Amino acid sequence: MPHAEVRLSLPHWVQSFAFAPCYPDAEAQVALAIALAERNLAEGTGGPFGAALFDGAGRLLGVGVNRVLPEHCSAAHAEMMAFMTAQQRLGGCRLNDPATGVTAPVTLATSAQPCCMCYGASFWAGLDRMLIGARAEDVMRLTEFDEGPLPADWVGELERRGIVVRRDLLRERACAVLRRYGEQGGPRY
Ligand SMILES: [Zn+2]
Repeated sequence: MPHAEVRLSLPHWVQSFAFAPCYPDAEAQVALAIALAERNLAEGTGGPFGAALFDGAGRLLGVGVNRVLPEHCSAAHAEMMAFMTAQQRLGGCRLNDPATGVTAPVTLATSAQPCCMCYGASFWAGLDRMLIGARAEDVMRLTEFDEGPLPADWVGELERRGIVVRRDLLRERACAVLRRYGEQGGPRY
């Protein structure tokens, strides 16, 4: 009999993480995504990636960290975990749909540029803004991860669909997490 259900979870430390009531600007929002990546690596609960979702007032809608190896799930990237947990919590499959009651705009902050899977998922998640720390070339230079192919004008494709993109936010700090992971020689969890 095939499995009829999928269950994914964030690490237990997320429940006691010291989240702020509000993350007022782009730097603060990316800083949280990077802090989640740092903690995930330090705790040994997944790969060195973090993501967070915010409403228009900077309030947290959801967070994600990489859970691919612990959950035996190739789709459990940080951005995907943030999308899925926020959508479940809000009871809507598009975060910026008025039916969710979320104050626009909806922002995804991610510690590193989305891979080809998370990039694709971003079109359907109901986003208005995307904030990125490290670049894909940083990920591939500092770790063994292959981020996969994106359209040549991947930023333009998002922006034409109403998702404003900002890159290189706290890039050095975002790279430091990747570098630490790379220097450890890969998974330690
Ligand atoms: Zn991804």
